[in-house]
Formats: sequence, C-alpha cells, structure tokens
Amino acid sequence: MVESRAAAVQELRARFAAGQTRPAEWRAAQLRGVLRMATEMEAEICDALHADLGKPKTEAHVHELSLIKSSCLFALKNLKKWMKPQKVPAKLMNFPSTARITPEPLGLVLVISAWNYPLLLSLDPVIGAIAAGNAVALKPSEGAPAMSSLLAELLPRFVDGTCIKVIEGGVKETTALLNQKWDKIFYTGNSRVGRVVMAAAAKHLTPAVLELGGKCPVVVDSNVDLHIAAKRIAAGKWGCNNGQACIAPDFIITTQAFAPKLLESLKKVLEKFYGKDPLLSADLSRVVNASHFGRLKGLMDEEMVSDIVFGGQRDEQQLKIAPTIFLDVPLDSAIMKEEIFGPLLPILTVDKIHESFGLINSMAKPLAAYLFTRDSELQNQFEGAISAGGMLFNDTSIHLTNPYLPFGGVGESGTGAYHGKFSFDAFSHRKAVMNRGFAGEARARYPPYSAPKLKI
Ligand code: NAD
Repeated sequence: MVESRAAAVQELRARFAAGQTRPAEWRAAQLRGVLRMATEMEAEICDALHADLGKPKTEAHVHELSLIKSSCLFALKNLKKWMKPQKVPAKLMNFPSTARITPEPLGLVLVISAWNYPLLLSLDPVIGAIAAGNAVALKPSEGAPAMSSLLAELLPRFVDGTCIKVIEGGVKETTALLNQKWDKIFYTGNSRVGRVVMAAAAKHLTPAVLELGGKCPVVVDSNVDLHIAAKRIAAGKWGCNNGQACIAPDFIITTQAFAPKLLESLKKVLEKFYGKDPLLSADLSRVVNASHFGRLKGLMDEEMVSDIVFGGQRDEQQLKIAPTIFLDVPLDSAIMKEEIFGPLLPILTVDKIHESFGLINSMAKPLAAYLFTRDSELQNQFEGAISAGGMLFNDTSIHLTNPYLPFGGVGESGTGAYHGKFSFDAFSHRKAVMNRGFAGEARARYPPYSAPKLKI
C-alpha cells in the first residue's frame, strides 16, 4: 500500500516531467472528462452525498454538482486566454526590449480535501490544477468515505489516470503524502491541521493554499426586509449542510431592540422550511459523524449557554440535530470561542449596531462576514472596518458562486484563494520573461565605472 502510494506519486512526477499535462488539448480533455463525470454520474454522486451526510438531493445538485459543472465550463471557455502570455510594458532603461508574463504549471500538486462538500472541495481545486497544466494527486476526506471511494473509482474512468490520481486515506496516509515533495499543496479543512500542512510544506519550501474556516458573523440592522433577511440567513445556515459549511453564518449580532423581531421571523421561516419536527425533515442534512455530534452536544449542553430560544431537539442514533438558536450567550462560552460548524446559531445583542464592528474585530478574521442593512453608509463603514476573506451584503454564502471573485480566507481563515481565474493562478507560476536584442548598449553599465566612457 505504502509502496503503491509512492509509486503513484513517482508516476505523476514522471508524467509531468515528460510534458504530458502541458498542452491545451490535454487540459481541455481532462476538464471535459470531469464535466462528463459530473453529468453522467449524478445519481451515484447524490447517493454518496446522502450516505455520507444525509445531504438532500437539491443541495447535492445546487451546491456541489452544478458548481463543479460551471467551474469546468468556465475553465474550458477561458483556458486559451488564461494560458496566453500577457504582454507588459517595458521601461526606457531596458530599451530596446519586450516583456511578458508567461504562466507555467507548477508541476505535481497535492489537493487535500474536507468532508463537508466532499465532491466540490475535491474537484474544484483539481479543475484549477488541471487547467494550469499540472499533474494532480487528490486526497479526499476519510470523513466522507462514500464520496472518497466513489471518486477513487470514477475519476480514472473519466480523466487521464496517469496524471490525475486519487489517493485515499486518513491521517496516517495524509501524513505520508505530506512527507513527500510537492510543487504546491492545496488544503481544505480546519486550522489545526492547516498548521500541520504548512509546517510540512515549509520543509520542502513548497507553497501552500490553506482554505480554512472560522466564525462567520452576520450583522443584522433594524431597517431590513425582515422576512427576506430571515430566509437568507436560514438558507445559508441550515440550508447548507445543516450548518456544516465553512461560510455558514456562525453567529448573529443585532440590537437588543430588534432581536425579538428577528428571532420571531427566523422561527417562522424555520417552521416553514423544516416543519414542526425538523428531525423528521428530509431537507436537513445530518451531522457527519458521532464525534462531531458529541462536540455539538457539548456546545449545546454547556451550562453557560442553556438559553436555547428555539429548537434543541436531537437524535443521537440518527445523528440529527434540529436548527437551534441561542440568545445572548457569554462571549467566553465554548460556542463563541470555537467555530460551530453545525446547526447551532447564537444571537448576540448590542445597544447600537456599530458596536458589532469592535466585537467582530476582537475575534480571528473570518472567512466571510455578512451585513444586512439598507444603509449604504453602514455598508461602507463595515467594508472599511472589517477584515474577512469575503464579504456579502444582504445575503449569505452566495458570493462563492461568482467565479470573478476570489474565494479564500485571510489571517486564521486561510491563505491563498481560488475559483475562476484565481484557481488557474493558484496553480501557476507567473514567469517574468524579458527579451532583448543586441542593440542598445549603455556604456555606463560596465566597469571600470570611474574611467572615461569610451566605446566598448
Ligand atoms: P476533515 O476532517 O475532512 O480534514 C480535512 C483533511 O485533512 C482530510 O483530508 C484529512 O484526511 C486531513 N487531515 C486530518 N487530520 C490530519 C493530520 N493530522 N495531518 C494531515 N492531514 C490531516 O475536515 P475538517 O478539518 O473537519 O473540516 C472542517 C473545517 O474545514 C472547518 O474549519 C471548515 O470551516 C473548514 N472548511 C473550509 C473550507 C474553505 O473552503 N475555506 C471549506 C470546507 C471546510
């Protein structure tokens, strides 16, 4: 097994060195292969997502399959343009010369993916790596075992398996992979392991993209369309894998005066979405495994946060937890100290909405920050004052669907970004190329510097 893993990596490196992955035709053929896989294998993919997470079919389509398909189509449409060297101006001191930036593939890249969107988070970086002309090893998450083995089975049927390989495994296997030398590592997951990945990459001076998480705040002003705001918050939280999403709202901040109205509206929306007994709803994903269930149970049961104002039902056998809202939990409670990554949503209250800025800035920089308001001045102030991987006004989560926006964190929520052209760039080296002829000698350039400048 160990030997076959090493042999697989060796083969990938040899194929890259042989130039197999560089031609535009090869890249386009692989992208078409991924697209075909996402189209022809929809049923198998939906089944795997349901087996791993109880993910509703609609979420599987909208949040995973369709995003993969549109990433492939976008890359296919733009591939030639992205690959083209970009001419840049030349300075007079370099006269005569021309200059360009030539994107080149980095070589052999390792993609380590997470369990919560196990198709999307595996294939979306792979699409970027292929478009940029690299050989790729994909290590899916053992936390989503059905998708991991499905990818291992399917991908070689649709793409060139000599240059794109799926290597399955858990911590032991990933550690072994990380000990090898890569030309880029792309990791999605928690920040504790992010540090492990960064340390392993540093040993070989390998650049790494870290797509991590954090606590994404949602600030809600009192001038909003309450029903729409509540629906969009609920969709971004519980409608995205039941809160197990990196950009899901982690907590809300609103004013004391407005909190009861917001809470009422959220309750109404949730009852409409998931019925009186959400544990029976087929539209709500389950918690991924017993260990995460235990972690979330611990957050719910912490004495300090006993103020559940909505929900709270859970079923350990089925690994299901209902949408659950807390009001005014202490800032030093575990639920406010760690990323929740599940269906629990605390609402914090402040006197004035501007107090939310200080609160957010006292915490680690989030992957996404959301503000609901009709006040454009407040939006400007929020944009200026809050550092976050991404920012979205009057909605949650959907900024990730725009391929013209980079997707990634800042500070503890990650480093590097991808999506659209940013994916191509993440897996390319931008080579600086200057071209001169033999004219244009500047005598002052050559020693002896102090001697009269004679023609040389
Ligand atoms: P996970 O358990 O699937 O782990 C991620 C990957 O790390 C897996 O492939 C796993 O094999 C590997 N891994 C785990 N322990 C390791 C170790 N000790 N050494 C080497 N590799 C190891 O996923 P997770 O970490 O539970 O994912 C949830 C976290 O990921 C959350 O913090 C979430 O916010 C974040 N996340 C971020 C994004 C993003 O795009 N920024 C997307 C999804 C999830």
